[in-house]
Amino acid sequence: MSRPPSPHVLILGGTTEARRLAADLAARPGVRVTTSLAGRVTRPGTLAGEVRTGGFGGPEGLAAWLRERRVDALVDATHPFAGRMTSNAAQAAAVTGTPAVFLRRPGWQAGPGDDWHPAASLTEAAGLLPHLGDRVFLTTGRLGLAAFAHLSALHFLVRSVEPPEPPRPPDIRVLTARGPFTVADETALLREHRIDVLVTKDSGGAATAAKLTAARDLALPVVVVRRPPLPDGVSAEPDVRAVLERLEGLGLTGP
Ligand code: NAP
Repeated sequence: MSRPPSPHVLILGGTTEARRLAADLAARPGVRVTTSLAGRVTRPGTLAGEVRTGGFGGPEGLAAWLRERRVDALVDATHPFAGRMTSNAAQAAAVTGTPAVFLRRPGWQAGPGDDWHPAASLTEAAGLLPHLGDRVFLTTGRLGLAAFAHLSALHFLVRSVEPPEPPRPPDIRVLTARGPFTVADETALLREHRIDVLVTKDSGGAATAAKLTAARDLALPVVVVRRPPLPDGVSAEPDVRAVLERLEGLGLTGP
């Protein structure tokens, strides 16, 4: 089968890195780039290249899409906690023989002065909270608040890009905001709301790391939810530059 004239790269997106990757690839002559979004955010902003929105229907649906749209390379640039999509991508790439590159920004590392409490899941994080404080800054996203809904004795300040829906804890204050955030602003926020414990996913990256520095400066404990593991046999690139080098190595895009 002859390859279509323009190599087609499908990016599984929803992250800053995916946006940067799309912009870089779309600017290269002769490359066709499509970004796929789950459709969770109502205003995702403009993206370079083509955009499609919504689930594919599991690994089989994604495999069918790869075949039908003649995708030459798949880049999983989803968030480190989008474990199901990453698993689907690995399966669909394997069954269709599509070259796949996985981008996973490095996780955060605790340093001197940090008081971090690792948790394997949101449920485990909720179990730790009553031992650590009673005014919680919860930054794990608007989905998954159900894990904290039974903690009626604790006050929650929840920050998310869009307002969370029930079930959610009864004593809650919601802040809708999108990063990046500065250390000064995060410190002021923690002080203003008299927060005594922070909960975060180990998302990694600079855009939302300031809260960790602010928590360290204020000597607050931080519950850090661990990432889901990568699928067996999958290795990941740490940043956009490394992904571009891999795509260049596949001969699909010029430097
Ligand atoms: P997930 O649990 O891994 O995925 C659940 C299902 O959503 C997938 O099986 C797939 O449906 C669909 N899906 C996920 N990402 C998609 C994409 N880029 N394009 C098309 N369909 C997608 O994912 P999630 O944690 O709900 O995250 C959803 C999206 O939000 C991801 O794109 C991710 O990059 C972004 N995001 C997630 C987080 C987080 O903390 N989880 C944070 C920031 C951004 P089908 O099986 O039907 O294909």
